[in-house]
Amino acid sequence: MTNGRENASRSPADGEGSPDLCAHCGDAIDTSEWHPVVARSEPDEFRIYPFCDDRCRDEWEDA
Ligand SMILES: [Zn+2]
Repeated sequence: MTNGRENASRSPADGEGSPDLCAHCGDAIDTSEWHPVVARSEPDEFRIYPFCDDRCRDEWEDA
């Protein structure tokens, strides 16, 4: 039995220039690895903020 559920669609972001940088420290994030994200719904848009680790996420949320 393999424990492989790795079929996540890894599409090469269609021209969507989303630079995956940590929203707190600005480090580049390896999006092939798990990383924490925070979803915020702003009045007219829904945004996803990626973080390089939980610590950055916590600090960003505290700020
Ligand atoms: Zn960070």
